[in-house]
Amino acid sequence: MGNVWEIGNLSVTEGNKVKDYLELPTVEEKLPAFVVNGSEAGPKVLVLGGIHGCEYTSIDAAQKVGAELEPAQVKGKVIVLPIANPASFYARSIYVHPRDQKNLNRMFPGKEDGTDAERLAYWLNESIFKQVDFVIDLHGGDMIEALVPFTIYHITEDKKVLETSKEMASLFDIDYVIGSSGQVPGSTYGCAAEQGIPAIIAEAGMQGIMSKKHSINLQDGVKNILVSLGLLNGEVNKSESTYISVFDWYRSDIKGLWYPDVEIGNTVTKGQYLGRLANEFGETVKEITSDTEGIVLFLVTSLAINDNDPLLAVGA
Ligand SMILES: [Zn+2]
Repeated sequence: MGNVWEIGNLSVTEGNKVKDYLELPTVEEKLPAFVVNGSEAGPKVLVLGGIHGCEYTSIDAAQKVGAELEPAQVKGKVIVLPIANPASFYARSIYVHPRDQKNLNRMFPGKEDGTDAERLAYWLNESIFKQVDFVIDLHGGDMIEALVPFTIYHITEDKKVLETSKEMASLFDIDYVIGSSGQVPGSTYGCAAEQGIPAIIAEAGMQGIMSKKHSINLQDGVKNILVSLGLLNGEVNKSESTYISVFDWYRSDIKGLWYPDVEIGNTVTKGQYLGRLANEFGETVKEITSDTEGIVLFLVTSLAINDNDPLLAVGA
């Protein structure tokens, strides 16, 4: 008998694969999971999709990677959770968990006795993150967001974790690689990296559209990382990356209407007009101008804007 991988309630013998539901204590929904225990020893990798329930391309990409992996080809262990936040997925809830209105990707490491999103984050971290060596979290533009594909790694004090994460983030056929120093706390990749687990986010696809092209882009990137980590045989594909250290988010400070004047991928200059916030009579309340020269990496495309909603981000 070979070794058995026990992860959460799931148990997979060596050289086998299981598709089943992951049950997390105090989390209402069960999470569909593909668990592959390869026929040879190697690293353990977690692939997440759907932390944000409307980022459909990420969900499709994770699901296809999970369905495709065969234990005979895998040296190591992989768990894929394509719909990591089922309540948000079925509620078609933008950014937040429908029951507590909290953004799961701001909640890590979560709270054992917290609200729905906090408990989900807590158990994902305790039961899954802490059992793996690498975390790949797939995202995209949410239902109301357009974006240029990019990847993100967390700038942590552990140089080895930082360098490995940066290398993983560079293995997608995606131009922009962002080093983030934790301006957005509570993220999956930041939490994992601070615990010594190299981790990244890859973002492709947008606006509630399941993009086959961007799904393949994400799937190929994940497989490329698995090759580079030695879990799959093959050649590592290297592509050129543009490294970005400034990731400037602009947020609304009113509830009203948003009229952007730029598009994703536009190069903007410092001081350039990016768009305006208006009241319900169409009168301009605030003009948004760029603090830096850079590229518009994501853009909220919803006319309706709530107080503190993101509007866009410029990378430089
Ligand atoms: Zn997301």
